[in-house]
This record gives sequence, structure tokens and C-alpha cells, in this order.
Amino acid sequence: MKKLKDYELIISDVDGVLIREGEPIYENLQVMSKLRSMGKEVVLISNNSGINRVLLSRLLTSFGLPIEPERIITSAVATAHYLKTRTEVRNVFVVGEEGLINELRNNQFTIIDEKQALERGAEAVVVGLDRFATYEKLSLAARIIKNGAMFIATNADRLWPSKAGLKLGAGALVQAIVFGIKKEPDVITGKPHKWILVPLSSDIKVGKTVIIGDQLETDIRLANTLGVDSILVLTGVSSKDELTNSSDDPTIVTNTLLDLEIE
Ligand SMILES: [Mg+2]
Repeated sequence: MKKLKDYELIISDVDGVLIREGEPIYENLQVMSKLRSMGKEVVLISNNSGINRVLLSRLLTSFGLPIEPERIITSAVATAHYLKTRTEVRNVFVVGEEGLINELRNNQFTIIDEKQALERGAEAVVVGLDRFATYEKLSLAARIIKNGAMFIATNADRLWPSKAGLKLGAGALVQAIVFGIKKEPDVITGKPHKWILVPLSSDIKVGKTVIIGDQLETDIRLANTLGVDSILVLTGVSSKDELTNSSDDPTIVTNTLLDLEIE
């Protein structure tokens, strides 16, 4: 069996692997930190569109894993990158939190507020996790899409692991719109879709790259799509039981990264 040191590029998920709602998962953090100090290239990818990369970088550094904001790719980063490089869209109505709005603003997109959207719609609607989403906001988003705006979902995650237990993910909000207007998103930028890795500057080499995550249908599926190795850690959403009925097979399954051989 391969050891962690055999990989050059280590791509890790954040929620359920390194942190759980802001709290450290030290067993995994320790190993990631060790890999970084060995000179391995470490990149973090997260479907969480609401997180601020700078704040996350500081948080992880305080937990002993120093990582620059540029090495963190969220689904918000992937969305901004996609819109910028693949579309003519300039203004966007957002169902999402600050991290997503900031990322779009930093990429020169105009954020249309609810009042403006009521009057003149928007060129695109981006839907991410929004813990403050209201019925009115979702209805407005649905209406703008129905009127022809591009429909972008940051991810289709069904659930996320909060400290209090599993909570509904961005995918649940996306599906409310899909169900209402019978239209699927034009694009989903987060895992397991490839768009989240497009802003990555490093080369993904089969055999030398591993993706670490806690969810079969996002992290592991992305790895399998790319043909690279994957590690499922059981510190987040997916459980051992789910593996039995899943077609998303990880290369390695482990309780925590500490149980794996590094060198
Ligand atoms: Mg996760």
C-alpha cells in the first residue's frame, strides 16, 4: 500500500476533515501539517461557498496548519472563475453568504440586491449555502431564472456536518428552485464537478496526487472522475455503512489520517 509521502500533490477537503464548524479536527490537521513540512504541495478545496479564504487561512494556521489563502479554493472561487472565463455575465443575484458575495465582488461582478432584482432581474443567479435565505429570496431567484438568467449552483451537497448534527446543504436550496421551475442548474461549480480544480495552478498527476475528503459523492467521486487516488476519512458526513451501497469507491478508508503511514 502507498504511503502518504508517495504523493506530491495533496488536495484536501476542509469541513469534516480539518474542521467541524470552526472547531479543529486535530488528528487530521496534524498529519496535513506534517506533510506540508515535508515539502508536499497541499491545496484545500471546499464546497463551502460562504467561507472567507483569508479568515480560514488564519484559523487553520492557528490550529497548526499554516496555509496561504491562495492555496484554498472554495466553490465561490470556482464560481467567480467560471463566470469570468466562460461567460459574458457581469451582474449577479446571489442566494448565498458573505464569502460568495465577496469573491464575486473581488472579481468585478456587480451584485444585484433584491430590490434591483425585482425591478430588472439579473444576468445570472448564483445559489450557494445561505443560512439566512428566505422564502421570498428563493422565490425571486426562481423567477429571475425562469425569465432567462443563467442558473449557477456552487454545489449540490445535500448535507453538512454542524456541531449540532447534520444540516441541509446548498443542494437542498438549489433543489427548492429546481423543483419549483423544473429546471436544472446550467452549471454546478463545486465538487464532484471539475470546475473547482480549474483555478488550481498545480498539475494533477495520476499516481502522484491524492484527494482527501469525508464525503463519497463529492470528494471521492471527484477523485474517481480524475482517476487519482482518494482517502475517505470517517470524521465527517460519510460513514462506513454508506460504503456498502456506494459506487464511489475510495482507494483508502480510515478513521483519521493519523492511522495512516506517512513515511
Ligand atoms: Mg467535507
